[in-house]
Amino acid sequence: MRYLGIDVGSTTSKCVVVDERGEIAGRGLSLGGAGTKGPERALSAALDQAQIEQGDIVRTCATGYGRNLMQSADMQRSELSCHAKGAARLFPTAHTVIDIGGQDAKVLKLDEEGNLENFVMNDKCAAGTGRFLDVMANVLGCRTDELADYDEKATDVASVSSTCTVFAESEVISKLAAGIPMENIVAGVHASVADRTYGLVRRLGVSKDVAMTGGVALNEGLRHRLEERIGEPILTCSLAQYNGAFGAALYAIEG
Ligand code: ADP
Repeated sequence: MRYLGIDVGSTTSKCVVVDERGEIAGRGLSLGGAGTKGPERALSAALDQAQIEQGDIVRTCATGYGRNLMQSADMQRSELSCHAKGAARLFPTAHTVIDIGGQDAKVLKLDEEGNLENFVMNDKCAAGTGRFLDVMANVLGCRTDELADYDEKATDVASVSSTCTVFAESEVISKLAAGIPMENIVAGVHASVADRTYGLVRRLGVSKDVAMTGGVALNEGLRHRLEERIGEPILTCSLAQYNGAFGAALYAIEG
């Protein structure tokens, strides 16, 4: 038996196919979120990997920013519910889950059973989200997935003080023009996102263990800077960006 979770994000669509025990049989990710071909492409990649056809899926649960556009889904669950469910399975010891996606950042507190106990969220401002990092990478002339490599080579942190993405962009341009090494500017960009995220985490308090999910969890440089602030190691895994889709797939099993 196969079940499908689909997370239609703001920037990226993710699909996870699981069996009745929640073991992952296939996954797919595609750039493009709500209203694009992203969900279709992510689905086709996940079905290919699981070596099944769409008709083999018993039930589909959709989540994410564009979940209501997924007419083909049998059910929908909120992002918070799916992220909590996915994280409780991926990181059984975690009680604090930091999720940073393309457009928002959230911190979830899980109880001993892995149920969602409390949360805080920033979905009003691009600063502190993947969007901020994408904009800065663009100004710096590199890809978002290269930022961690630059940060690793930083000799200093060129602090980025503007909290607004548009002003921070101008600040980065000025720093580049002033000849500040790109590595140090990237360190400053990461420090700024880490500070913002830590501000969210502090509102809930840190309950060990701490895990990180969402596409931004793949950025090791940012993760390390956040670990410095929190004073705890941050767990993550290669499935971090699929966490919401995985949680949705687990809901699809329950029906
Ligand atoms: P959403 O669900 O809102 O679309 P995701 O959780 O999929 O968001 O995260 C998307 C964000 O993750 C992008 O904005 C980008 O900044 C970041 N990201 C994606 N892949 C990588 C990577 N390989 N390295 C660093 N950051 C990444």
